[in-house]
Amino acid sequence: MHLFCHEHPETLSLETEIVDARPGRVVLAQSPFYPGGGGQLADRGVIRWKSGEAKIVGFEYSSGKLWHLLDTQSDVAGGAVQAAVDPDFRRRMRQLHTDTHILNALVFRAFDGALVTGVQMADDGSARMDFDVPYADNDRLRALEGPINDLIRQDIPVRFAYVPMHEAQAERGLIRSRSVAPPPTPDGKVRIVEITGLDRQACGGTHLGSTGASPPIRILKVDNKGRHNRRVRIALAE
Ligand SMILES: [Zn+2]
Repeated sequence: MHLFCHEHPETLSLETEIVDARPGRVVLAQSPFYPGGGGQLADRGVIRWKSGEAKIVGFEYSSGKLWHLLDTQSDVAGGAVQAAVDPDFRRRMRQLHTDTHILNALVFRAFDGALVTGVQMADDGSARMDFDVPYADNDRLRALEGPINDLIRQDIPVRFAYVPMHEAQAERGLIRSRSVAPPPTPDGKVRIVEITGLDRQACGGTHLGSTGASPPIRILKVDNKGRHNRRVRIALAE
């Protein structure tokens, strides 16, 4: 799966055209929207055409096409449209998403390759991440707040690359979680996101260009979820 927003996370507005339409839904020739997945919420935004506009309220994949679900059932004339992502929402998701990678990197190191069992970002600027760390001391997890904020302040570049699936599977920790690893591309590659020098892992979301574009975070809470799992809640501190 190659998404426009993977290559161009800064391009939030596009002139494009409708290539298929049904009541309340359209397919665009090119879409700037992140359709959700891997714990990151789907983008919000609008499409505008000559005589009107509609809010995007969701996304649906059907027979290989990405349908943009609209807040109107009325017919949208085909042809040229402007598609625009809600910039504040996207920025918040990129910040939170990048910060969950930093948390994940530190937990992976501190707790001997601990795996992520779930992640979910919320639109209020918070996120939760579940780790399989049966013997973790919750205070040690809480104490990661300082080191996370140090790494944010260091403004570390975040890069991505596409790696053949068999190579990715051979590198320990690269595919750390079924819940966040994206599906492979048609040519059998998987998208790898790297916080340079700190962590590499398969991921299909949108991230910052470097960690310093995030505000500091707070660790709100660490909960036990069953015998094996710890749930860490973080929030952007702004
Ligand atoms: Zn990611």
